[in-house]
Amino acid sequence: MEMAKSQNCVSSLPVPVKKIWLDLIPPRIEIFTWFAMMGKINSKAKLLSLNIIRPSEALCIFCNATIECADHLLLLCEFSAGIWNWWLNLWGLRWALPGSLKDAFDQWAISGRNSFLKKVWRAIFSIIIWSIWKERNSRIFDNKSCSIAQIQDLILTRLSWWISGWGDPFPYTAAEIICNPLCLAWKSSDGAIKGPAIPSPPKPWSPPRNATLKWNVDALVSSSQSMSAIGGVLRNHKGVFMCVFSSPIPPIEINSAEVLAIFRAIQISMRYENIRSNHLEIESDSMNAVRWCNEDKGGPWNLNFQLNFI
Ligand SMILES: [Zn+2]
Repeated sequence: MEMAKSQNCVSSLPVPVKKIWLDLIPPRIEIFTWFAMMGKINSKAKLLSLNIIRPSEALCIFCNATIECADHLLLLCEFSAGIWNWWLNLWGLRWALPGSLKDAFDQWAISGRNSFLKKVWRAIFSIIIWSIWKERNSRIFDNKSCSIAQIQDLILTRLSWWISGWGDPFPYTAAEIICNPLCLAWKSSDGAIKGPAIPSPPKPWSPPRNATLKWNVDALVSSSQSMSAIGGVLRNHKGVFMCVFSSPIPPIEINSAEVLAIFRAIQISMRYENIRSNHLEIESDSMNAVRWCNEDKGGPWNLNFQLNFI
């Protein structure tokens, strides 16, 4: 997935919708959430109403039983409801499935005084919607599908990448969140830790120089090797999100996955004039990946193409 910078303007929106715009996730995903709640995404139901497709082509890709409208696709379908329920079950919660995304959004809250967890809840609402939409597109256009477990891991991975832009000294990595999502109940004040996650030192985001854009790329290989993913976030020197990508990749060694993340960031940068025309920095946590990219030789043979390109 790729996205260019989007402007947002909330002044004329209905009041509840303003709650989405909290700068917790990239604007493009926030805007997608808003469109989805308004039923304004290009669902098959919409294409059917415009006579672009036939009724037989308008069925939901997940259940193949119901016409695909935004509410069905992203909430009511058994497939999607399973993802919502997975998140709620993590926290020991249940809900009677709301009738629409708008109702779901209105009900979407976690009680308590943990302000960090409240931000996680607000962000995860959009991330779940976005991740279901990405899966739908991947099945329709690329004929590729992820399992529910892989989508859950991707949701937590995306969440982890956005959290890194919030400025909280949240100490857990994507892999640790996947291993124990309850570590998201972390509080900045007491650092209380539930469960087996191991704290690692916080790594605050450091801005690039003026007029420079900075990619933070990351790769994740889950401990069970069932899921690997790469992602990146591009920000300007003020920390404003410019572009994001995230995608599953075949299981691969972690340093090699980091090289693929750097490769992808450069590919995307070359494609867009508003990125290409700036100075760029790319930051990766993998010393090996950075060394392979900076040296003329070395690195795994199967990454020759990507390393030469970089
Ligand atoms: Zn369905």
